[in-house]
Amino acid sequence: MSEMRELLELTALELGAAVKKGDVSAEEATRTALEAMEEREGALNCFITRTGEQALERAKSLQARVKEAKSPLYGVPMAFKDNICTRGVKTSCASRILGDFTPPYQATAAERMEAAGCICLGKLNMDEFAMGSTTETSFYGPTRNPWDTKRVPGGSSGGAAAAVAGRECWYALGSDTGGSIRQPASYCGVTGIKPTYGRVSRYGLVAYASSLDQIGPLARSAADCAAVLDVLMGKDPRDSTSLDVPAGGLLASLTGDVRGLKIGLPTGCFGQGLDSQVHRAVLQAADVLKSRGAQLIEFDFPVMEYVVPAYYIIAAAEASSNLSRFDGVKYGWRAEGYEDLADLYCRTRTQGFGTEVKRRILLGTFVLSSGYYDAYYKKALQAKGVIKRAFDEAFRHCDVLLTPVSPTTAPRLGESLSDPLQMYLSDIDTVSVNLAGLPGLSMPCGVDGAGLPIGCQLIGPPLGEAVLLNAAHAFQLETDWHKRSPYGKEAF
Ligand code: GLN
Repeated sequence: MSEMRELLELTALELGAAVKKGDVSAEEATRTALEAMEEREGALNCFITRTGEQALERAKSLQARVKEAKSPLYGVPMAFKDNICTRGVKTSCASRILGDFTPPYQATAAERMEAAGCICLGKLNMDEFAMGSTTETSFYGPTRNPWDTKRVPGGSSGGAAAAVAGRECWYALGSDTGGSIRQPASYCGVTGIKPTYGRVSRYGLVAYASSLDQIGPLARSAADCAAVLDVLMGKDPRDSTSLDVPAGGLLASLTGDVRGLKIGLPTGCFGQGLDSQVHRAVLQAADVLKSRGAQLIEFDFPVMEYVVPAYYIIAAAEASSNLSRFDGVKYGWRAEGYEDLADLYCRTRTQGFGTEVKRRILLGTFVLSSGYYDAYYKKALQAKGVIKRAFDEAFRHCDVLLTPVSPTTAPRLGESLSDPLQMYLSDIDTVSVNLAGLPGLSMPCGVDGAGLPIGCQLIGPPLGEAVLLNAAHAFQLETDWHKRSPYGKEAF
């Protein structure tokens, strides 16, 4: 039993190294994860679909070729958020409307992970169509936070964060449109990174807001995230927004040396509404980096009041357009008992989408409609430009920025959905990063009085993944927040 626990506590890179060395087989690792899932899923509900049988088959075939392993992640079990298309495996986006959708093709991100030797354990729960901050809007029921099952894991990649924190897999792929990797990573005490827009192909990622969406890893350490990004990054001819710039080499570049690194602390991110324990933990993280030679620079960031309204207008507008394809005709679920075509659309969409998704479609259709377009959508695009320029200005004096991820730690189940506006406002520290297309990383940096994880965010300039990961790695060499497990010593 304790051997099992030890295996589950390894980082993905440690497990990959053990598989390569022959200390543990890919099959043993997979069985261990499946047993952990068996034990914990009843309480956590991280997975929408489990593919245990296929995972074991895959592990056997990978094990047979272990000598050919090239990636440090070869043979390591993981899972995908359920909006990343996987050939032959249901991809529901946690929505009723895609409840019977099995993609005939593979997302580029999944294809690349597969080529690196990953073992997929299944598809992870999320807010419906990635809209939400708690994973409570899923058609398949909420995921629960492994640190306290009365709390949400955050969202929308809540299943991914909870599965990694809950030791059901070693890493996961999520997606981030306005914080959906970073915020659940923060609530669950794991490390996650949203790359620069265009770094990772979106081919096969079911679109929420196409100009903001990015795929990225959630894992136990910055080094694990670097290893996953090394696999994922790079130009993809199937996504015209993917960037044709040199990729790879992130893991190899981690030195932990942050001497002379200029870290900006935007005062606007440390204002009203920020929980005092979160505030303290983030400043302590800044001090840790300072003790390793970084320089802290406080500066004014006068655009905070625009970020939430601009984000929720642009994201809803794009969502209303992207989701128009779900009409009960082309694919997915279709309502019964319709009278004509209009009635088919109406019934399918009324019954197929949940409340939050409908709210976004209504809002998005409204801000794009003639007469309101200029007042809302166009204005939001202008605000986006102002926000982008504020970041450009900040990066003239700073190499990275350090902020909270979320103003609070994980709320209780049910607390957020009753007040959607409040929930939107809690995205204040993450959404600006997507609007500006920048890379952002979340890492554990403390716990609050109730023992819940606190995260801090590092924001980098475009293509600044290496500097973010290196700063996080430096922090993780100095601290052990990322090593803490919700199971303490009791599990198994
Ligand atoms: N909470 C934000 C939203 O609901 C972010 C979601 C995301 O990043 N997918 O839009």
